[in-house]
Amino acid sequence: MTKTIYCDFDGTVTKKDAVNTFFEQFALPSWVESEKLWREGKITSRENALIQVGLVREITEKELGDFINSVEIDDYFPEFYRYLKENGIKLVILSDGFDLFIEKTLERLNIKDVEFFANHVFLENNKLKIEFPHFNPSCDIGAGMCKCSKVREKDFIYIGDGVSDLCAAKKAKKLFASKSLLKYCEQKEIPCIPFENFRDIIEFIKAE
Ligand SMILES: [Mg+2]
Ligand SMILES: [Zn+2]
Repeated sequence: MTKTIYCDFDGTVTKKDAVNTFFEQFALPSWVESEKLWREGKITSRENALIQVGLVREITEKELGDFINSVEIDDYFPEFYRYLKENGIKLVILSDGFDLFIEKTLERLNIKDVEFFANHVFLENNKLKIEFPHFNPSCDIGAGMCKCSKVREKDFIYIGDGVSDLCAAKKAKKLFASKSLLKYCEQKEIPCIPFENFRDIIEFIKAE
């Protein structure tokens, strides 16, 4: 039985991509142009993150805190977490998003023992700053937080929703995919299990 699950955060644990929702509310509209360049493969996701964070207007601690509290979580994620804990399965969150969002969200859910890796984001004089403590220069996809280099086990489950999950997802023994990751896997005939929410994943794991 698989003892480790690696899981994406934005659009997987959260219903919508929290980073993009944040930019929609707090960045100059041209953040979308940078996003487009990244989608077209013209800039890396690290470069994209630097540009987009630079486009965020001045923001207070309170505004940032209120935003993070408003991020909607998959209804079954807390149940999923408890199920894994009861069954001795380790959960690690791998995200090319913002560590602050993950930290505060887990706190809100009263989850204290889930390890996560993401880009480091903080406020300095009301300006958002980003650092890349997990950057790997040889990452296939130029991610800010390189997911593939965090995956050590041979036998692991991966859960994700985006193409940027692919480098780690491809190596998984079992891959749960939704949204654009699912579409990509279907096109490329990469074996995966489609899911809508964490309830589906709990049911699948229980049935094994
Ligand atoms: Mg995602
Ligand atoms: Zn990588």
